[in-house]
Amino acid sequence: MESGDGTALNSQKVEDGVGVPSGGSSVPAFDVIVIGAGFAGLYALKRLRDLGYSVLVCEAGSDVGGVWYWNRYPGARCDVESLQYSYSFSKELEQEWEWSERYASQPEILRYLNHVADRFELRRDIRFQTRVESAIYDESHGGWTLSLNGNQTTKASFCVMASGGLSVPRLPDIPGIDHFAGKIYHTGQWPHEPVDFTGIRVGVIGTGSSGIQVIPKVAAQASKLVVFQRTANFSVPARNAPLSPEVQRAWKAIYHEYRARARQVGTIYEVSEKRTFDVTEEERQREYQRRWDKGGVNVIQSFRDVMVDKSANDVIADFVRARIRATVKDTSTAEALCPVGYPLGAKRICVDTDYFETYNRPNVELVDLKKNPISRVDANGVATTGGYHELDALICATGYDALTGALLNIDIRGRGGMTLRQKWSQGPRNYLGLMTGGFPNMFIVTGPGSPSVLANVVVGIEHHIEWIADCINFLRANGVRTIEATPQAEDRWVEHVNKAANKTLFPLANSWWLGANVPGKPRVFMPYVVKFGHYRRECQQAADNGYEGFALGAN
Ligand code: NAP
Repeated sequence: MESGDGTALNSQKVEDGVGVPSGGSSVPAFDVIVIGAGFAGLYALKRLRDLGYSVLVCEAGSDVGGVWYWNRYPGARCDVESLQYSYSFSKELEQEWEWSERYASQPEILRYLNHVADRFELRRDIRFQTRVESAIYDESHGGWTLSLNGNQTTKASFCVMASGGLSVPRLPDIPGIDHFAGKIYHTGQWPHEPVDFTGIRVGVIGTGSSGIQVIPKVAAQASKLVVFQRTANFSVPARNAPLSPEVQRAWKAIYHEYRARARQVGTIYEVSEKRTFDVTEEERQREYQRRWDKGGVNVIQSFRDVMVDKSANDVIADFVRARIRATVKDTSTAEALCPVGYPLGAKRICVDTDYFETYNRPNVELVDLKKNPISRVDANGVATTGGYHELDALICATGYDALTGALLNIDIRGRGGMTLRQKWSQGPRNYLGLMTGGFPNMFIVTGPGSPSVLANVVVGIEHHIEWIADCINFLRANGVRTIEATPQAEDRWVEHVNKAANKTLFPLANSWWLGANVPGKPRVFMPYVVKFGHYRRECQQAADNGYEGFALGAN
């Protein structure tokens, strides 16, 4: 199977890096080890290094970028607007960087992150092709020992887990898939060189955000494209377009205002104060249509009750289904593409360019797996209970072991040898999403229990890193060696996160937010649904009260 660095999927080849002290010393080798060199890891390095700490970033990939390093599939693009999906920590960076489109493509975001790495000379403290395989807490010295690539160790007082919420791709567990003779790709581990599908028969499994982006691009090349859809998804048009210098200049002139607002609400959208049934049917439809024409996920903010009132949600869901029926010419294909059985927004809403239009192409066929599930894959194609599809290549847009996957893939052992896997066997437990008891000095960035993927994740990342840096400063200034969440604070937080989710419609779909896409994963709604500003205040309050809810110790 092909993957990002041309190696077999799920068995990344790693090579020794340089300059990492081996284990054996009782003195921590670094103040902080950061795991991951995506948006979070780069900022963690910048912030902590500027404060005078010795920092090493370990990154499994060969370069910076995180998800934007791995997700090189055709059509990959962020669906948060470029001007928002960027760092705010440097006014100079903010002003000098020019985005070319309303929504930045993967190559442009990767160029941006490379620019950040170069501009702030970050690479010298990043060790690439370095997978952290284990992190063991050492109670005698109050720090962490990390095993790198299975053949080296290093030590640190603190670990910052910037390993990403969507960094562990999942291949479908379909009988016979290993026997497929053609190439198999996963959107999340795409080869670096362009893949040419011209004139060949391609299958795509999965119709989430990645599938919805890759499908129109592959359809334009392949002689035949077969889309295997298990659950139809709500998708709204992006209305992507070049970003004019005037728009950019106007935005940059008051960037600080936009940033301040994003820090409170997570993302700058036009949020309505009205409820769905406060207005007439005509007004309602006009508002949906206005937002639909504008493009982007903003549609979901048409009325403030969309994610809390099922009847309000039903109305907007009907609006989207009507748009699908109006776009897709073949009526049975249109019906199969209409999402049913779960509220709009309870699975991550997708943002597309020509997704539904693609099904009007003569070379595209939709296979509804709800009616005819896949029975097996063999050398030549995919068999469903309804027929057989000969294929030359297969694209799996089948998602991730999200939010907890990257953390639990590392053998993390805290106090008394307890593993994080054991501790989180019934679902993630932590306080503020930032720390978990029994694992001192290990900070988690935009993981479960924080707003993470429900807000603009860059806003969340900057907040977390700044909170973590302030916390480490506090500990050092006060001669405190360790910090971890108390069991009481953790219990309260987990309950609060669950209760908040249960007041909304979010848990009503089998989403990756709930862990429902991974067999055996505890079914717990992981992100914190409350407004970002509220979350920010809770984190600030804990810090202002001397890190209330955290146990401070000597080791
Ligand atoms: P995803 O949303 O989890 O979608 C995976 C798709 O694969 C689903 O349609 C799923 O069907 C299907 N699938 C999984 N296993 C299958 C199997 N064995 N047989 C048939 N179908 C199977 O993953 P994703 O599309 O990679 O997106 C993940 C997240 O990444 C997004 O929600 C978003 O947060 C982020 N993302 C963002 C962008 C963007 O900014 N535009 C782009 C890509 C990704 P079921 O629904 O039935 O499980």
